Amino acid sequence: MDQPFVILPEEQAPEGIEHCELCELSKQRTRVIWGEGNPKAPLMMILDNPGAREDREGNSFLCGTRETLQLGMREAGIAPNDVYVTYLLKCRPMRAYKKPEARAACLPHLQLQILQKRPLVLFGFGNVVAEALFPEEENATVKQLRGRWHEFQGTPIGFTYHPLAVRRRPNLLRFFVEDLIALKEKRKESAP
Ligand code: SF4
Repeated sequence: MDQPFVILPEEQAPEGIEHCELCELSKQRTRVIWGEGNPKAPLMMILDNPGAREDREGNSFLCGTRETLQLGMREAGIAPNDVYVTYLLKCRPMRAYKKPEARAACLPHLQLQILQKRPLVLFGFGNVVAEALFPEEENATVKQLRGRWHEFQGTPIGFTYHPLAVRRRPNLLRFFVEDLIALKEKRKESAP
């Protein structure tokens, strides 16, 4: 491996939101996890929810999701500093919960982030993010949405497979990298 994987710096949740109780995950979470990476980055990446790594504050353990994401970024030529990574749900679910209600409750947090950070391009990973952001599309899946640009809140958005799906099915890596290359090109096109 030429370069080591990097641990992106975490961004704290804004005051007030760190105690958010808008959905039932507030009763099972460890903490609210707002996002990581460069808060002024041109690319905002959206995962479904934080995992164990993010939950352990201050523990520089690199999870499989990050490792595969960074592998894809490296192959595509995307620098870590160009990226801000956040989640559809800002709390890590520990047990069963009402998914549609939690996703709807947390969506305004993501909308606020997009409004405040104004990234040039958004990029979603996995079917959960696709379904939540495009509820009006019947069966919005990555398979259906990838390879084209869509719009969310006035910002271009693309989709690819969830890094964990790519880990489980290595034959997806080629498509994953292809999609990330398209993201890099879109960023160039969208630059003011
Ligand atoms: S998942 Fe989102 S809406 Fe639910 S408690 Fe956490 S921050 Fe609030």
